[in-house]
Amino acid sequence: MSQQEYLYRCSSDGAVNNGLKQQCDFEFVFIEGDHHCPLCGSRLLRVPTGPSVSELLRRGQEEVEPKEKGK
Ligand SMILES: [Zn+2]
Repeated sequence: MSQQEYLYRCSSDGAVNNGLKQQCDFEFVFIEGDHHCPLCGSRLLRVPTGPSVSELLRRGQEEVEPKEKGK
């Protein structure tokens, strides 16, 4: 039940809504999937912000996992 959340940003380039809007900088955190900008309807692209917190935690666990008990 823990779906990954990512930052998404509007993919529109330049003016949108037939030039009514100079540009659309919509950004929001969504769960992983296909999303569209509620402002201009363009596709939202995932912003590469690096691994999410939960991903970092998972990696940390994986790094610890190789049992280094011998010390
Ligand atoms: Zn937009």
